[in-house]
Amino acid sequence: MRKPLVAGNWKMNGNSASNTLLLDGILAQKNTFTSVDVAIFPSAVYLHQVQIALERSGLSWGTQNLSQFRQGAYTGEISAAMLKDFGCKYVLIGHSERRGLYAELNLDHFVLDHIVADKYEMALTEGVSPIICIGETPEEHATGQTEEVVARLLDILIKQNGVKALAQTVLAYEPVWAIGTGKSATPEWAQEVHSFMRERVAKHDRATAESLQILYGGSVKGDNAAPLFSMPDIDGGLVGGASLDADEFVKICQAACS
Ligand code: PEP
Repeated sequence: MRKPLVAGNWKMNGNSASNTLLLDGILAQKNTFTSVDVAIFPSAVYLHQVQIALERSGLSWGTQNLSQFRQGAYTGEISAAMLKDFGCKYVLIGHSERRGLYAELNLDHFVLDHIVADKYEMALTEGVSPIICIGETPEEHATGQTEEVVARLLDILIKQNGVKALAQTVLAYEPVWAIGTGKSATPEWAQEVHSFMRERVAKHDRATAESLQILYGGSVKGDNAAPLFSMPDIDGGLVGGASLDADEFVKICQAACS
């Protein structure tokens, strides 16, 4: 039985005062969602604030990105060891908004997937659980390439670190056309892709595939979370916009419990 996980990606939002209000609002209701893991991903400059607020709360935290390099002359980057130093349990890797920034450098999908795989390896070496974001763009969706896109990255991850490394990993299916658009994937569509991902891993190792948490992300809200989370291969959500409202986020966490 896989425990659900709800992850709140705050993106580049918040300040010290609004973060305190948001965290207090979530923590005040934490007894209403006990059978779900919950993690918060603030902007990195607020990591310490979130760490202090969530320590001993049972909730976890992490950053929205990390460097694929260990340390050194990489101005502006954050290393996996730094995440460990600040008590991060998880790190988001390969979010489509990050990929978009790299794509502006004209890197192709193959190179992008390899950067994700390098970051993945770095997180694993420090014992920080990577949440790997995978999903097709609107164009890839329209031309029926979803499975190809998802399989390409999964195969690279497995080739680089072996299938067993996925036991410390969370996957997040995030169709790019659903992120921040208010247009969530249907539960049936998401289930089909999640099931495809699990089967792809199962071809290498069924036990790892069965224990693997696969989250859905893309316009998850309080009122569409329950049908999504009721699908057999959807193990919770990666939530952007709705994680900025304490009551809405708590509703999503509650939906993952039922
Ligand atoms: C995200 O940023 O990962 C995300 C899913 O955003 P939203 O929930 O706003 O679509």
